[in-house]
Amino acid sequence: MRYHIWTEGCQMNEADSEKLAAGLAKLGWEEAAKADQADLAVVNTCVVRQKAEDRAAGYLGLLRKLKQSRDGGLQIAVMGCMVGPRTDDLRSRFPYVDVWARPQSYEVVLRAVMPDSELGGEFWPDTFPEPKGPTAFVPVVHGCNKFCTYCIVPYRRGRERSRTIDDVAREVASHCARGVREVTLLGQTVEAYGKDLPARSLDTSAPRGADYSGRTAEEAGRKPDLASLFEAIHQTPGLARIRFLTSYPRDMTERIVRSVAELPKVCEHFNIPLQAGDNDVLAQMRRGYTIEEYVEWVHKIREIVPDAALSTDVIVGFCGETDAQFERTLAVLEQLRFDKVHVAAYSPRPGTIAWRHMEDTVPREEKMRRLHAVEALQERIAREINERLVGTVHEVLVEGDKEGVLTGRNRGNKLVHLRSEQGARSGGQRPAIGDLVDVRVTKATAWSLQGEALAAAAV
Ligand code: SF4
Repeated sequence: MRYHIWTEGCQMNEADSEKLAAGLAKLGWEEAAKADQADLAVVNTCVVRQKAEDRAAGYLGLLRKLKQSRDGGLQIAVMGCMVGPRTDDLRSRFPYVDVWARPQSYEVVLRAVMPDSELGGEFWPDTFPEPKGPTAFVPVVHGCNKFCTYCIVPYRRGRERSRTIDDVAREVASHCARGVREVTLLGQTVEAYGKDLPARSLDTSAPRGADYSGRTAEEAGRKPDLASLFEAIHQTPGLARIRFLTSYPRDMTERIVRSVAELPKVCEHFNIPLQAGDNDVLAQMRRGYTIEEYVEWVHKIREIVPDAALSTDVIVGFCGETDAQFERTLAVLEQLRFDKVHVAAYSPRPGTIAWRHMEDTVPREEKMRRLHAVEALQERIAREINERLVGTVHEVLVEGDKEGVLTGRNRGNKLVHLRSEQGARSGGQRPAIGDLVDVRVTKATAWSLQGEALAAAAV
């Protein structure tokens, strides 16, 4: 039997699809490159933006035709954030879908296609996704407690639930044993990691490979946090880099930021959504911080981790956002000079607080004007930042090799292109996927760097 999984949305959804694939593989299923070669098509959905929801609906339309052409010989499952606690509306909109599964409800899908399977005991604890290259996403805290007014995530993914350090460490070890060099620890607000876990004792909770040397009993007696997790997985054999996504200002602590500076494998990159540069808009969004607090965190990070690369997310045209308020967002972006900005035009999401209680006042054309203004500003800032990197040397993990061009990312998560003839000059060997190489930047655009490999990086 063969399955095909189509995934929309964030890294968490990608990680969920890989976990489902691992469960199916354990039951003997094989992956099909396309839905028309599969017995089971899974659509892992995202509804954070209207466009993502539209794409899933469009893909489901194609699957309906495929199912009809095969006289029903295709099972269709829909998983992810499109699926809430009630599915009546979805069932009437998409009557040809066989299985509805909420985010991470892998078992609902598996039980529907193989009702007699034994999924208890060690089935899930020992089911780790098959790595697709030298990098892997590892969810460490699921759900979100923040309830920003525009966001559907807490309603779909539930409250924050952290995995234990041991559980995460086992998954990281499994990935690295199969060639992964870099893991990205994922959470909707990743610094919330551990808040719901019990405090650990000095001796009993250290996972395999953990190194808590030098820690006081008081430190060891606290709840584990993201810094504890960094320490616990740091010595995993084969692991070269640790990343983490997505940051949330109110959950940040100085201890976590210091651990980024002190632990050599933790990459100096923070993605901290700003969302808006005006305090009233932030309050309307219920983001839980003021712009002054946000700016203070950025300064603190840059003071503790001087080489830190920073990226952010911005929503333009939120309910009631005036032109003057939007201008303040531009001013903050100009002031803080992020390496990268992900910008989106606000679209009301059914079920959210904003959808229920606020008016979507900003016309579509105005939202697009603001969106393009952010893009234009950020293009200039990113080009200026990147052009200053020409001539500097960066550690790059090679992740792809396409038509003679190697691609990878530096520690700050910037995309780097390497021409294939630019092999490691000292060793004379062309870098391969999974290699860490030192690269001198020869050219820069707003979006990427180009460089030449000098030598394998020391890890
Ligand atoms: Fe959504 Fe806010 Fe939670 Fe992020 S922090 S997932 S925007 S509710």
